[in-house]
Amino acid sequence: MKVGFIGLGNVGFKLANSLLETGFDISIYDLDRSTALELENAGAKWVNSPKEMADSCNICITCLPSPSAVSKALEGENGLLEGLSEGKLWIEMSTTDSNEMNRLSELVANKGAFALEAPVSGGCHRASTGNIAILVGGSRQAFEMALPALKAMGHEILHVGKIGSASILKVVTNFLASTHLVALGEALMVCKKAGLDLPTVFRGIKISSGNSFVHETESQVIMNGSYNINFTMDLVCKDVGLFDQLTKDKKIPAEISPLLKDIFQDGRNRYGDRAWSSMIVKRLEEACDTNLRADGFPDELIDETPRREGYEVA
Ligand code: NAD
Repeated sequence: MKVGFIGLGNVGFKLANSLLETGFDISIYDLDRSTALELENAGAKWVNSPKEMADSCNICITCLPSPSAVSKALEGENGLLEGLSEGKLWIEMSTTDSNEMNRLSELVANKGAFALEAPVSGGCHRASTGNIAILVGGSRQAFEMALPALKAMGHEILHVGKIGSASILKVVTNFLASTHLVALGEALMVCKKAGLDLPTVFRGIKISSGNSFVHETESQVIMNGSYNINFTMDLVCKDVGLFDQLTKDKKIPAEISPLLKDIFQDGRNRYGDRAWSSMIVKRLEEACDTNLRADGFPDELIDETPRREGYEVA
């Protein structure tokens, strides 16, 4: 089984590395050649275009920063569509627009190939160890074709439903996580201004009803001051924008969503496209002239759980 991987960024690199570490024969491609060097040294094969990848691989995976980048990788000159043929499989692992997912999957089906969406959730530390969660949308047949590769990259794997469903669920979960990140900034600031000890506050929230995955992970790099969560402002803006568009399409008078979108756009304007998403709390730190630093927190998260084979969540 030959697997190709396009998009070797913060999370893509780690997913591709999981395939390599678990014995898959992989080909790799990225617009930025330098992202591939470490994987090439470990045995991955560089290809010169998505078409070359689709010509030589059974499964081609994309993990890219925007729907337009995915469209380019598929529909552009020497794109995947030129090489995909009967029985091959394209897996979209980017967080993307469900309408675009449906449109591209039809083009793939016209080639006799299968399409599956498999966005990931749980952060880069879990992608590093193959412990990230994967939400999957597409036919059962395509899901089963993809399962060995998905089990190598992730741990809990949920078949959500038809194409488009997993992209919606992924955007929903990122809306929730992003909302909680902004709320955590306000919560921690109230505690700091009230003179509470932040490490104690961290433990208190962790054992209380206000706890969340975001608190357990991002609060740590915020209090360290590195803010390094391996996920960037440009991508959060994409995700909260996709969620907001869904509320508009479904005519839901959401109140938090438009505000969240504005907050992250402001963070992106202030700190740049490639600033870590956790830096959103820096807006409040600046407004209050008070930082949220505390001793004893790591500058980057490390997943202590060993690599385990993934499984389908019933
Ligand atoms: P990234 O911005 O760090 O990296 C994107 C990579 O894609 C870059 O190396 C870039 O050179 C490459 N690229 C861009 N356009 C390309 C093209 N047309 N052809 C080939 N390569 C191209 O992104 P990331 O953090 O790895 O995220 C990738 C996707 O996964 C995004 O949709 C993101 O929302 C999603 N995601 C990220 C995380 C995370 O923690 N970083 C977690 C879950 C999901």
